[in-house]
Parts: sequence; structure tokens; C-alpha cells
Amino acid sequence: MPQVPDEMIVSMYEGGTNLFWADRYGKELGIPDLWVKLCGNSHSGSFKDLGMTVLVSVVRMAIQEGLKVKAIACASTGDTSAALAAYGAAAGLPVVVLLPHNKISTAQLVQPIAHGAMVLGLDTDFDGCMEIVQRLAAEGMVYLANSMNPLRLEGQKTVAMEIVQQFDWQVPDWVILPSGNLGNASALHAGFKLMRDLGVITKYPRLVVAQAENANPLYRAWSEGKRTVTPIQAKPTQATAIQIGNPVSAPRAIVALEELNGIVEQASEEELCEAAARADRTGMYTCPHTAVGLAVLEKLVSRNVIKKGERVVCVSTANGLKFTEFKVKYHEGSVPGVTGKLKNPPVLLPPSFDKVVDAITQRFG
Ligand SMILES: *Cc1c(COP(=O)(O)O)cnc(C)c1O
Repeated sequence: MPQVPDEMIVSMYEGGTNLFWADRYGKELGIPDLWVKLCGNSHSGSFKDLGMTVLVSVVRMAIQEGLKVKAIACASTGDTSAALAAYGAAAGLPVVVLLPHNKISTAQLVQPIAHGAMVLGLDTDFDGCMEIVQRLAAEGMVYLANSMNPLRLEGQKTVAMEIVQQFDWQVPDWVILPSGNLGNASALHAGFKLMRDLGVITKYPRLVVAQAENANPLYRAWSEGKRTVTPIQAKPTQATAIQIGNPVSAPRAIVALEELNGIVEQASEEELCEAAARADRTGMYTCPHTAVGLAVLEKLVSRNVIKKGERVVCVSTANGLKFTEFKVKYHEGSVPGVTGKLKNPPVLLPPSFDKVVDAITQRFG
């Protein structure tokens, strides 16, 4: 956005996140060249910051040039609202967020509250919130900050550039992306396409769109060979940020899949919970959405679709620290339908030296 003057830019130094070499986890799966792009290590804890810096900067400029809206607004599954509230607060602009009541984590709910946004908790799901905010925007009451706004995608496409740059301008064989509303899938494609058009790269990675089985409208369409997505009622999933049944950017994601020789795969609740636990045991701290990506990776490796020796990047979309309830429930063994093979509850003891020694000896011999 070269037309945005420097003094209008609203930035929290998003981007430049670590491309983590998942050495131990990758070796356990038999793919030693596995990398996890930690987009959640960012100001508000998710990749949404990458798009929000562009959007809020442009809106700030537009408001100064006379745009009349009451607020910038979004529907959200928790991370878009956190990012919008933070960037809006930094710029001193009013923000309204529409959230599905009781369907996001406590940390995600507290973020816009803390930043002074108007938080509307609606008794519906994300798709219900989306419908209402689109109407508010159509009537000119608010400026829409959801990812159907191309300004968001312009910012988010930098993930593709960062990945390639971090590999010294080499393109990985695969990029796996946990997806819900499917804006990020099209942003990733736009990033790779721009680099290819500019001659920075000469090939594309293959794209894997990873969906939760309980919210899988694209998986259903793609596996039936359809090129249009039929909206569904998404069921509850631990991966709350991708609990979306009517993805707004589905047509753009289909183009991304076609051009990047893509695959759509899904993960069940059990698969995503166990993948998160396995990855955490190797030092990562995975959010449930990243876990959908990793569970899908495990499936594709076991089917030999992704092969040993190939370079794979899984995009981690949010910081695990936002999803404490998810971790607590897993390690308590209270996620419905999930065994919790790696659960590791704390050992509760009286303050006795001998009891502590006994417990350590029992665990480690
Ligand atoms: C927003 C979000 C996604 C999904 O991105 P889409 O562009 O909606 O597909 C995935 N994971 C997390 C943590 C998110 O916040």
C-alpha cells in the first residue's frame, strides 16, 4: 500500500516470526525436514495481525480523508477480534466485535474487552455473526474488517514471502494450512503467485488445506470433486477458530487449490487432540488449529502422500497460550470422545520430602 503515508501506519511489529525446525517431532513421523511457521508469536497471538496492520492503516487514512463510519467492525471466532481491537486501540479508532457467545476461549474474549472494544456476544455461531456484520457494513454503519476485505489478504500474503525468504529463497514441497473461513488459503496463494510473477521463485509448493472434521464444508466439496462449497451447520470442535460452516472465501480457496495442486484433508477431535499432545511433548505448544494441521500431516505421511525427504511447512496460526482450556481439558482427560493417550496431570502430594522422593522414583525408576 504505497499510498499510505508513514505517519498513518499502525504496526505492532507483526511478522518476522520464527520458522521452527520441528526436529524431534519430524523425526518421530519420519520426515526430518519439517518446519512450523509460528505465526502465533505475534502481538495479539495469531496470524491475523499480518492483515490487520494493513487494514487499520488504510482505514485510519480513509477516516482522516473523510470516511464516515461509527466503528471498524468484524465477526470473529476470537483471533480477528483480538487483532482488530489491539490495532484499533493503538490508532485510537472505535471497534465493534461480534462474537459467538461461549464459543471462543477466555483469553480471546478478554483481549477485545481489555482494548476497550465494544464486545457483542451473540447467541449464534460465527456464520450467524458474519451475516449481521455484513449487513451493518452494507448499511454504512461500520467498516468491515473481515477477510472478505482484500486489505486483510494483502497483509496475510506476506507469510508466503517470509517462508521462502527463511529458506534462502527455496520453495518448500508442501505448505499445510489450518483453515476455516478460507481467507488465509487464498492469501497464501496470492503471496506465492506474486513471487512467481516477479521471478523470485520458479515453482509452487503443494497446498494442503486442513479442516476440522466437525467443520468441513470444503473437505466435503473437494473430496466429491465439486468446485463449489455447500454451506453446512458446523459442529462444535476444539479448534474453535475454524468452526465455520459457510466459508466466505471458499471460491478463492478453490482457485488456490487448483493452482497449487492442492489437497483438502480433515482431522477428527481425537486426531487433533493427540497430535497437539504429541507435538507439545517435543517442545512445541500447539493451539488446536495448528493441531488440525499436524494431524492432517500425520495422515498424509502415513499414506505416503507426503514422503520422507520432502520439505514440509505447517503454518501455526495462533499461540497455544490462548487456548489454556483446551490444554487443561486434555490433560484432565475431559475432552468428550478423546482418550488422552499422553495426558500428564500434576501429581498432588503433601509437603513431605519422602513422598516427593517416592513419586519421582515411581516415575523414573
Ligand atoms: C482465523 C484463524 C484460522 C483460519 O483462517 P481462515 O482465513 O479463516 O481460513 C485458523 N486458525 C486460527 C488460529 C485462526 O485465528
